[in-house]
Amino acid sequence: MKEFYDTHAHLDFPDFRDELPEVINRAADAGISRIVTIGTDLESSQRAIEIANRFESVFAAVGWHPNDCMEAPEDIRIQLESLAKSSKVSAIGEIGIDHYRLPSSRGGTETDDAFFKAKQVQLFRQQLEVAAELGLNVVIHQRAAFEPCLEVFEPFANRVRGVFHCFVDNPAAAKRVLELGSIVSFTGVCTFKNASEVRETLSSVPIHNLMLETDAPFLAPMPFRGKRCEPAYVREISEVVGQTLEVSLDTLSEATCKVAKDFFKGLC
Ligand SMILES: [Zn+2]
Repeated sequence: MKEFYDTHAHLDFPDFRDELPEVINRAADAGISRIVTIGTDLESSQRAIEIANRFESVFAAVGWHPNDCMEAPEDIRIQLESLAKSSKVSAIGEIGIDHYRLPSSRGGTETDDAFFKAKQVQLFRQQLEVAAELGLNVVIHQRAAFEPCLEVFEPFANRVRGVFHCFVDNPAAAKRVLELGSIVSFTGVCTFKNASEVRETLSSVPIHNLMLETDAPFLAPMPFRGKRCEPAYVREISEVVGQTLEVSLDTLSEATCKVAKDFFKGLC
């Protein structure tokens, strides 16, 4: 069986609380031999580290998600840095900019939006500083904010590589990410019937610049769309990615695992 990695899952989410060993075993049975579990705030990051310490095949990324920026401390750097020094931490993330869910979409004002956006930038920048300082790469979440996200990231791009996760933007956007020395990763979205644009972008990306991920418990691929997603489903994603890139699963396995090993510290 071909070996693949799930480079982005949220194993600390309550969805998995009652059956974590089973979820990880099902992944292993499907050939998914490594999982990077991604923190979304300090507590979630701490849980990610605990899970990584418990299961040999699991590694952790620590970071604070932009959607939860209003709950973040004024300065996250010292706490994040101390988490990031834990032995199985292989990246900072997920971090970034998200303009999809602004306060105004929940009854807030324009002033609330401006404050929220500024807070996201501050939080993103502080976490990029920690990554640069520690020599770690970053897992980037970006939604409806490609330009604002690049604007913050670009000054760090010579010191930190990013993976723009769950990539759904156009080929030109992917090209700009790659030109910064960063990479992209694809979720089950690329298996959706109506996602031909995502597959078009996917086919434009050289195989040594991409990784596979589930974003579990979200975004289950076909034929599980709408259900809870889990790392084993990288298998279904790999099949569609292989077909789209017109490469064998052997080639895809070798390429994507190598990209992940180069990207994530300590992943071996
Ligand atoms: Zn995620």
